[in-house]
Amino acid sequence: MHGILLILPSNKESMSEDIFKKIISHAKEYGYIFQSSEIYDGLSAVYDYGQYGSELKNNIRNYWWKSMVQHHENIVGIDAAIFMHPTTWKASGHVDAFNDPMIDNKDSKKRYRADVLIEDYAEKQRQKAEKEITKAKKRFGDDFDEKLYRETNPRVKGYLDKADEAIDKMVKSLEADDLAAVKQLIEDLEIACPISGSRNWTDVRQFNLMFDTKMGSLSEGADKIFLRPETAQGIFVNFLNVMKTGRMKVPFGIAQTGKAFRNEIVARQFIFRMREFEQMEMQFFVKPGTEMEWFEFWKEQRMEWHKKMGFPESKYRWHDHDKLAHYANAATDIEFEFPFGFKELEGIHSRTDFDLGAHQKYSGKKLQYFDPELNENYVPYVVETSIGLDRTFLAVFSHSLQDEKLDDGSERTVLRLPKFLAPIKAAILPLVKKDGMPEMARRIFDDLKNDFMLQYDEKDAIGRRYRRQDAIGTPFCITVDNESLSDNAVTIRERDSMKQERIAIDKLAAYLFEQLKY
Ligand code: ATP
Repeated sequence: MHGILLILPSNKESMSEDIFKKIISHAKEYGYIFQSSEIYDGLSAVYDYGQYGSELKNNIRNYWWKSMVQHHENIVGIDAAIFMHPTTWKASGHVDAFNDPMIDNKDSKKRYRADVLIEDYAEKQRQKAEKEITKAKKRFGDDFDEKLYRETNPRVKGYLDKADEAIDKMVKSLEADDLAAVKQLIEDLEIACPISGSRNWTDVRQFNLMFDTKMGSLSEGADKIFLRPETAQGIFVNFLNVMKTGRMKVPFGIAQTGKAFRNEIVARQFIFRMREFEQMEMQFFVKPGTEMEWFEFWKEQRMEWHKKMGFPESKYRWHDHDKLAHYANAATDIEFEFPFGFKELEGIHSRTDFDLGAHQKYSGKKLQYFDPELNENYVPYVVETSIGLDRTFLAVFSHSLQDEKLDDGSERTVLRLPKFLAPIKAAILPLVKKDGMPEMARRIFDDLKNDFMLQYDEKDAIGRRYRRQDAIGTPFCITVDNESLSDNAVTIRERDSMKQERIAIDKLAAYLFEQLKY
């Protein structure tokens, strides 16, 4: 039996900071994530995935692709180019409106998103209210009426009202494009720079997040084109191609995964916010008027997808948008509790006919569906699910990394990745490097390598090899020992429980298939 105790620092704030640091250094030390161009001191908010990182990323992407494309008869997948005709971005609204309001602190010279400063202020007020409520719950016990307390306790109500008013004013100012009012709000709320502590702010300015580059040689008169800031538009411009060639009937979906680029103002949270990242998006085309039903449907489907990974439900929460994007009539986020708090992981948006309608207008091509039941043409409405692959990676990785103290007083670092996502599914380990054990281990490796990603390791004592596999998250270690040569069986050790069992070599493949099912 192994007692398991998490080793955590005592104070909550330093705890999450320490944990985050540990996550970043573990990711580097074990070949998951490296800073891009590290030998040149790195490139800000750009990262490379190492030998295990790229496997984990592939597995998450495949898990998404399978659940969206393979599991739905009416969803197909495509792979559109990163470069698109520049008019695409005019039509989609990105040239004119893909901006973030930025503000600089004159003392620290740090740049912030003005809306995020205000949202953080509101979140702090809400947390203060929650603290009061938790205290009152303890004080009043079973008699506590939380709803009444929220509505009537002056302190709690004060905090919640402050939060709501701040968000309300911010939304109104941003909708009116009144940036002076946004700055005034930051001053009125007395928001200080977390680095310098000062309230010495510049004006708020809009900043377009798209990267641009030139296509063609200068002598020919090169055209400015953009690196796509989202994958969705590659789907919209292919709507007709896919509908016709795939004989698709509404409702149907088109899915795609791929790189997107944003010149983010604040890019300081490891792979949470990158300038080059990967999205997994699905646009679902529906009959106008049915979009709310499909919005609910996809909300439920997507939450199920997250839960299947086996993390506690309390790690997820919904966040309905306060400010709807120019294209949406409903939008919500699935937030995950990262080491630095609850943050957006996935967006589910009802985008109406905004995108197809705009591309129809700008291209002059009819982007419509002929509905045989209604005997009429219409521009379908769209419900999209849009999730960041890197953010999902961070969610999975950060939650899985644990330090444990074992019953015998020793410690281990274990990456409790969902088994089906682990980069290496099993390590094949000869107990010692002699007496035919390595040869037998190699034979097992060759038999299984077509079905499973494996690692052969014969270096160091077996305990050290187990620890190495724990740290990279390998769910199974298969050890070939002296007896294996006579009984044709091996010992298989499970990562989380560290339990070992004896299993016949010819049953290994079936065992692993069963264990890796989800
Ligand atoms: P945020 O508010 O965090 O900037 P967003 O609302 O702009 O995100 P969307 O445009 O809805 O994000 O993009 C869909 C998903 O793509 C997000 O839920 C997130 O997982 C991912 N994503 C967006 N921007 C980034 C980024 N800079 N780095 C990594 N992932 C990102």
